[in-house]
Amino acid sequence: MNKEEFINALKELNIDINDKILNDFNTYYKMLIDYNSHTNLTRITEEEEVYLKHFYDSLTLIKAVHLENQSLLDIGTGAGFPGLVLKIVFPNLNVTLVDSLNKRVVFLNSVIEKLNLKNIKAVHERAEDYIKNNRESFDIVTSRAVANLSTLSELCIPFVKVGGFFIPMKAEAETEINNATSAINTLGCVIRKTISFKLPKDAGNRSLIVIEKNNRTSVKYPRKFSEIKKKPL
Ligand code: SAM
Repeated sequence: MNKEEFINALKELNIDINDKILNDFNTYYKMLIDYNSHTNLTRITEEEEVYLKHFYDSLTLIKAVHLENQSLLDIGTGAGFPGLVLKIVFPNLNVTLVDSLNKRVVFLNSVIEKLNLKNIKAVHERAEDYIKNNRESFDIVTSRAVANLSTLSELCIPFVKVGGFFIPMKAEAETEINNATSAINTLGCVIRKTISFKLPKDAGNRSLIVIEKNNRTSVKYPRKFSEIKKKPL
């Protein structure tokens, strides 16, 4: 996806980007490639592919939820997908990025500083630990490419405020949903809908699963990671 295709694809998502935002993406791309040359962040490095499979893909979250003036938590953000990309386009979004790998958090902080972004922080912690002081405190929690839906739900849903949303970004939804519905309900949520679409240029299928929290999550969740793995809900 070249720059012009990126701009046009975003228009179809009702996102109008200006030169400053385009410059920010350019800087982010360069920093990603530079850091990736010595520390693994992503296997996708070709510019047009990064714009499609990381930048554009991250922004498709807008199909599922209203983002202005919301607090958003991205669990297992890696090099900032989708949370940092969303922050660049939606400056009023209050963003928290969490990743268990410090070298990724160091990269995220360097981009945040370089782009002079406010109301965003990158946290080096595992989701199971970060929950201690942050239970039920975000409007929206999202995550891409971190774990299967059942595991991910136990890690993410405890962070969502009652009335808020957990929206995992998945390639495929049906089997995942079948295996995770009971976990999602146990954690206090209902699946409202699934938004499925194809990425441009045959880059694959995507599903945004819109999960609404209507009850508080028991404080016994999330359990230790080894237990989540051993005995899925
Ligand atoms: N979300 C990014 C993306 O879509 O490109 C990164 C995906 S990468 C495959 C998974 C990331 O999740 C890694 O950066 C890893 O360090 C992080 N991660 C895995 N388990 C985690 C946990 N329990 N808490 C926080 N981060 C976790």
